[in-house]
Amino acid sequence: MAEAVTGSEAVTGYCVKCKEKREMKDAKEVAMKGKGGKERRAMTGFCPNCGTKMFRIMGAKK
Ligand SMILES: [Zn+2]
Repeated sequence: MAEAVTGSEAVTGYCVKCKEKREMKDAKEVAMKGKGGKERRAMTGFCPNCGTKMFRIMGAKK
């Protein structure tokens, strides 16, 4: 694989509780099955402020 997501890269997501964008805590990459059996990458993490789980779908393009 040519391009890997580095663990040190900050991932931001939208916290629905804070109603703000925040940096995800404990962000990790997950693979989701989309339509047509295509795999999509997403990031999950937690809001550093309130602990709400955050989720962000990563596009195919960077
Ligand atoms: Zn929050």
